Amino acid sequence: MRHLVWFRTDLRVADNPALYEAAADGAEVEAVYIDCPGQWRCHGNSSIQRDFMSRNLQVLNEQLAQLGIPLTVLTVDTFAEVPAVLASWLTTHTFDALYANRELGIDERRRDKAVQQTLLVPCRVYNGDCVVDHGSLTTRSGDMYKVFTPFAKSWLASLRASGYRLLPVPEALGEPLSCEPLSLSGERVSSEAWSAGEAAAAQRLTQFCRLSLRDYGELRDFPAEDGTSSLSPYLALGILSPNQCLAAIEAELEQLPFSRGEPGFVWLNELIWREFYRHLLVAFPRLSMERAFKPETEALQWSQDDEGFRAWREGQTGYPIVDAAMRCLKQTGWMHNRLRMIVASFLTKDLHIDWRRGEAWFMSRLIDGELAANNGGWQWAAGTGADAAPYFRVFNPTTQGERFDADGDFIRRWLPELAEVPTRVIHAPHDWLDNHVPGHGYPKPIVDHKRARLHAIAMFDALKDREAV
Ligand SMILES: Cc1cc2nc3c(=O)[nH]c(=O)nc-3n(C[C@H](O)[C@H](O)[C@H](O)COP(=O)(O)OP(=O)(O)OC[C@H]3O[C@@H](n4cnc5c(N)ncnc54)[C@H](O)[C@@H]3O)c2cc1C
Repeated sequence: MRHLVWFRTDLRVADNPALYEAAADGAEVEAVYIDCPGQWRCHGNSSIQRDFMSRNLQVLNEQLAQLGIPLTVLTVDTFAEVPAVLASWLTTHTFDALYANRELGIDERRRDKAVQQTLLVPCRVYNGDCVVDHGSLTTRSGDMYKVFTPFAKSWLASLRASGYRLLPVPEALGEPLSCEPLSLSGERVSSEAWSAGEAAAAQRLTQFCRLSLRDYGELRDFPAEDGTSSLSPYLALGILSPNQCLAAIEAELEQLPFSRGEPGFVWLNELIWREFYRHLLVAFPRLSMERAFKPETEALQWSQDDEGFRAWREGQTGYPIVDAAMRCLKQTGWMHNRLRMIVASFLTKDLHIDWRRGEAWFMSRLIDGELAANNGGWQWAAGTGADAAPYFRVFNPTTQGERFDADGDFIRRWLPELAEVPTRVIHAPHDWLDNHVPGHGYPKPIVDHKRARLHAIAMFDALKDREAV
């Protein structure tokens, strides 16, 4: 028997159900990755993520070679061409079955359906990206949860009842192979700040659990601290699996935390948010189609303020915490979660710009860009999503800065023009700059937050009025 494993966003050999099952019955195994540069562009993914993907693919290539499994990279432009190229590859190389782990976006699901309809051999698809499989958690009426807390309760009950399954790396299937270096073509921005490969991810995970897991609840909101795991680039491309995260928590704490207040629970809860958004993406295909989760919010009258969007994108809004966050994103391809919430709120509630523009900008810059979490985060902040922030609770960018970057350390790191500003005025530095630094160039706030907040609330109130008519 000859089995072909099709790698996608699951670039790992450990805890990889498709690879494990393909190799389980002593079959000959080969692997393929199908690069679709046109699709990459169409989905608006970033050049830094493409570079990270390419580097991780090379590490995977080496690991598979050690297991005696050759990896081939095929290139087509878009998903539309994938069924034909796979069918031809399977036939020419006489494979008996195709193995893959599921991907969740609507384009990926349509592609996979087309592949299944085209192939003459069995196509076996597994859940490799969630601890609890999509669709398996439902309310009493059989629907997907629309609110996080009951979803989390159900998720934890499932984990308690069934545990999680951590699959080993398959046994080597033959002598190690030599392998040629491979790399993806197209525009790339260096991702060298992030070590590639699952060993690097595992090391980061272990270190995080050892040093920060217990204090995560206290530290996670402060962007100047190293208080979160920074594992998102690895989870987004499947270099690391959520089961491996659970295993690391368990190894550190000797047991899994099942309730609020137990050490490690706050971090586990973030992993449950990750799964919540993934389950939502499967249950509500409109989330993959640039539609709001709450259909009534499609009528919101967003502003076409291109100048405001440019200022936000470039970190020139005159709100230091927003600007520092946006410049950090531009320079590194990553942003702390607290800052993602602040800048998303600023774009949608202070500038009244459509969340879809922010979502696309994030996708085009993030090294961890990932449809489910990005869409979930944006719709949460905009007030259009499942279990979103209440529309009348608008983040104040100045007090957020004061609370979460009290000494201004993060702001000074990313806004060199504010390097000399004293801490007492770092979150509203304009008068001080005007008096002490001639020609400083830092912009005045581009909106008045109080007025902008009232406008945002009025936008949502107008929706209620429409419903009442
Ligand atoms: C507007 C907005 C956009 C976002 N876009 C993305 C994105 O494109 N890709 C992405 O992976 N995350 C996204 N997030 C979620 C979150 O900000 C990042 O996952 C987190 O900052 C990554 O840092 P970390 O690995 O140190 O996370 P930790 O705090 O260490 O959390 C561990 C893991 O849990 C998951 N996670 C944590 N918080 C969330 C969350 N709120 N929602 C879903 N999953 C979460 C991530 O996989 C993360 O790596 C977004 C959040 C917002 C508000």
